[in-house]
Amino acid sequence: MTGPGHSQSRNPFRTVDLIRKKRDGHEHSREEIEHLVHSYTVGHIPDHQAAAWLMAALVRGLSRAETAHLTHAMLHSGEVLDFSHMAARKVDKHSTGGVGDKTSLILAPLVAAGGLVVPMISGRGLGHTGGTLDKLEAIPGFTVKLSAAQFRQVLEECGCAMISQTEEIVPADRKLYHLRNFTGTVESPPLICASIMSKKLAEGIDALVLDVKTGSGAFMKREDDAVHLAELMVETARRMDVRAVALITNMDQPLGTHIGNALEVQEVLQVLRGAGAADLRTLSLELAAWMFYLGGKARDLGEGRRMAAELIASGAALEKFRHMVRLQGGDAGVVDDHTRLPRAGSTAIISSPRAGYITEIHCEHMGTASVLLGGGRVEPEDDVDPAVGIVLHKKVGDRVEQEEPLCTVHHNSEERLWGARLLIESCYEISDAPPAEVRPLIHRVIKDF
Ligand code: URA
Repeated sequence: MTGPGHSQSRNPFRTVDLIRKKRDGHEHSREEIEHLVHSYTVGHIPDHQAAAWLMAALVRGLSRAETAHLTHAMLHSGEVLDFSHMAARKVDKHSTGGVGDKTSLILAPLVAAGGLVVPMISGRGLGHTGGTLDKLEAIPGFTVKLSAAQFRQVLEECGCAMISQTEEIVPADRKLYHLRNFTGTVESPPLICASIMSKKLAEGIDALVLDVKTGSGAFMKREDDAVHLAELMVETARRMDVRAVALITNMDQPLGTHIGNALEVQEVLQVLRGAGAADLRTLSLELAAWMFYLGGKARDLGEGRRMAAELIASGAALEKFRHMVRLQGGDAGVVDDHTRLPRAGSTAIISSPRAGYITEIHCEHMGTASVLLGGGRVEPEDDVDPAVGIVLHKKVGDRVEQEEPLCTVHHNSEERLWGARLLIESCYEISDAPPAEVRPLIHRVIKDF
């Protein structure tokens, strides 16, 4: 428990009364939500009270009005950036969280190479999912902690920058995001909406592409819940005059082949070189196409896709990535030599117990296995091991022979490997026949323009 918990006598509300109110299913006023967000951000509400309120909000839900008040209060907990002096349109993309989802690292340089500005505020690993910031920090020297002035400087120089929430920018999300991760309060559409939209609206963007995941590795396992979350976010964006679209995308298996921070940077470099797994490349091109379309660079999605493919083929996207890494203090040498990224001390192969077809790779468990290896945080104070993770050799629908490798585990501890191996082995379903149905990568698109 942290926070002094004092000064509440100066406030019109007692925090305990607000927790009880939400616990009993009543609706908060704007002032009550502002009190909760402001007082927690400045340290007047301790973690244990904030956690109790978050759990009540997760169980009871928040109305549309409460969600809007929460987003607004979190957005205004810090500075709202203004890049209107930059002529190019400002566009961003955010995912609700997945396993092996490294598209942000591909999209920021790719879309900036196409002439738009991408001011990206991202998050760390949440639950079983990976975090863009943890992936970036796998690049030796790369800093995600830029001041607002430094963020502006990097954007002006190369058109994209990727940072964390800070004391200055959406500090409320910085604290709440961390607290939710360890209190079982992630899987709530209004809390996810407020977390994502406060970060995105603080960026001063003109347009936003949302990647709302659904499936066994997503926070929203059911498509209906994903659609509800997408609608909430698109509506919030519209209210704030930001053009937004949400793609409901599949997270029934990891995206691409690499899971784990440095391993995912390696796969990002493959895609930026024109290679990489088909699903990762397809989704990246589709999200980029929407960003180009909403940013006014492409007349339609077809043109957007072609632009994205050309920027990869010409090497312009890779060069932009190199430039951003250098400006944010990272070792740009990793772009040409991925062996400069952290590497695990050992690898272990997990082989197929039988011949057949892969009909399922349980995606949440695969993400949890990477966390258990040290790739994410089990406890709040854990350090992340950038080198560990899993490389898949087979995906859903693939044929496999008995004893053929399913995946390679990169690890730094036999003990951690033991726990992760049990989980990974339980992720695979192998049958005599191929899966009857593999859901498409992009399920549908939600927009209100
Ligand atoms: N991504 C975020 O930024 N916040 C959430 O709550 C979930 C995913």
